Amino acid sequence: MRIRTFEEYQTAYRHSVEDPEGFWAEVAQEFKWHKPWKKVLDWNFSTPDIKWFVGGKTNITENALDRHLRELGNHPAIIWEPNDPSEPSVTLTYKMLHDQVCRFANVLKRNGVVKGDRVCIYLPMVPEAAIAILACARIGAVHSVVFGGFSAQSLTDRIIDSNCKVIVTSDGAARGNKNIPMKDTVDDALIACPSVKKVIVLTHTRTAISMIKGRDVWWESEMKQVTSDCPPEVMDSEDPLFILYTSGSTGKPKGVVHSTGGYMVYSAYTFQNVFQYEQDQVFFCTADVGWITGHSYIVYGPLLSGATSLMFEGIPTYPDAGRFWDIVDRHKVDILYTAPTAIRSLMGFGLKYVEGKDLSSLKVLGSVGEPINEEAWNWYNEHIGKGKCPIVDTWWQTETGGILISPIAGVTKTKPTYATLPLPGVQPILVDESGKEIEGNGVSGNLCIKYPWPSIIRTTWGDHERCRQTYFSTYPNLYFTGDGCLRDEDGYYRITGRVDDVLNVSGHRIGTAEVENAINMHSDVIESAVVGYPHDIKGQGIYAFVICENTLDDEDLSRRDILATVTRIIGPIAKPDKIQFVRGLPKTRSGKIMRRILRKIAEGDTSNLGDTTTLLDPSVVDDIKDGAL
Ligand code: ATP
Ligand code: MG
Repeated sequence: MRIRTFEEYQTAYRHSVEDPEGFWAEVAQEFKWHKPWKKVLDWNFSTPDIKWFVGGKTNITENALDRHLRELGNHPAIIWEPNDPSEPSVTLTYKMLHDQVCRFANVLKRNGVVKGDRVCIYLPMVPEAAIAILACARIGAVHSVVFGGFSAQSLTDRIIDSNCKVIVTSDGAARGNKNIPMKDTVDDALIACPSVKKVIVLTHTRTAISMIKGRDVWWESEMKQVTSDCPPEVMDSEDPLFILYTSGSTGKPKGVVHSTGGYMVYSAYTFQNVFQYEQDQVFFCTADVGWITGHSYIVYGPLLSGATSLMFEGIPTYPDAGRFWDIVDRHKVDILYTAPTAIRSLMGFGLKYVEGKDLSSLKVLGSVGEPINEEAWNWYNEHIGKGKCPIVDTWWQTETGGILISPIAGVTKTKPTYATLPLPGVQPILVDESGKEIEGNGVSGNLCIKYPWPSIIRTTWGDHERCRQTYFSTYPNLYFTGDGCLRDEDGYYRITGRVDDVLNVSGHRIGTAEVENAINMHSDVIESAVVGYPHDIKGQGIYAFVICENTLDDEDLSRRDILATVTRIIGPIAKPDKIQFVRGLPKTRSGKIMRRILRKIAEGDTSNLGDTTTLLDPSVVDDIKDGAL
């Protein structure tokens, strides 16, 4: 299962393409199955209908917890770092975690949850979030985790969409110096959610909250009512494990459904290989459990591998912009996995927050969520990795369940801004607008995958047609990622942004990410977002929204500097036609730029901006509208 050299990668890759079923059967063997599968894979991409390990029976928590008890029972499974650095961190060993999960599984049962029911989890980044997730899986309930920063309306939408019976929440949450009223938000959300019968409330910030008799119960008192004896429910490989809504960068969030067996095998396989995790190392993924990255690489991947997963409650800038580096120093983190948006933001605070921190424990760095621009890549490499840690730029999606294209740490030669090569089992293909394969190297096109991997999306909850239409109908017999991609002369893949974000300027195809990359190279620029707008002569013009640091005694001069920078880096063809300086960019709560809003503004059409409920700070949009050029 473990790849150690580039030759081994090549052998594994070849095997996975020539004999996918044989390849994945071998990997899946390492897990405990109550009943072996009858057939490894059954699939078609037209309806679509995809089944892995058909007829196999297992329970993912048995593999993530029980399986490790004998050898790793007293090893740390989760290390929890609280928001407030003066409070002590908490360590849960595999034994302790197993005990808590079984108890909470019994609490769920006590509150009427049975196999197949949906449970909404709306919690801060506390160990109980992982416990609640695993407890659902223990009894075969389908978890739907909603990021704790979402509003009541967004929570309502997600609860209604998946018809949840129970919601697990906390009184409040601490993020930086803010106290976030979780239970109040749940109360507001539930006004419109008749399906929810019980609310299980964890005491965390000890904020005063309402507790409604018959509906609301306390986590702590419930846990006292149950034993820690909870045999795992035997699940079919294709039983749904969870629903997770996408971050909504491109439209209404989709309730992506993942199933049990394939997700288990793939999240563990990719965790171990991409990061080259070694026993006793500390793995720190800074994502929230409310995103797929948290599901696959804070909870399932690491625990299925017997790893130690560090979970951080707070934000990277509290109490100051050195918090990540403090955590690395304090807990001797071996592997750090974070997002370009965090790197860029911390970069903006300057090196003084990195200096004096002992980062020598770091061995591997990871990036996920959006294309990482060259400047951020170099900063991460130089100042955090000290030039000795491979950076794995991992490309994947909520729908893919696990990493698809990425270097294998220390095995694949990296190249800044490149996700490099497909992992074993992943068969990418680039196609043009008409769906024709673009062969060879040194080409770019729309990124599709032509063969299923074990954790591919099975459906969108309650609306299979939407799944078919969104991912499997654009190009027949291909899974369409929605991302544009370049394959260079070495066969390395580089994601250039969403296909919708690829511009056609005077007949040249230019990725918005590429232009942003160049703008961001300008020393005063903190961040930028580029979109296209209709242009009489060029077809599409380039409109750039830019956040600058040295605010602009002479905006016009700054504009010309930026144009000169872009010309140097890409060429005059990529020069923005319009540059608007802004204070902030419209970002989703997962830190991604909602370009479709900027596109509307650039087009001068602000009457209907579409679904903006997943925006972090909607007021940014008004400012940008006011300053539009
Ligand atoms: P929605 O589908 O609702 O618009 P979303 O696509 O932002 O939301 P996610 O599934 O969280 O939701 O994000 C996946 C997308 O993030 C990918 O399709 C890609 O555009 C981008 N992405 C993720 N990792 C990388 C990476 N390493 N390099 C480039 N882009 C990445
Ligand atoms: Mg998406």
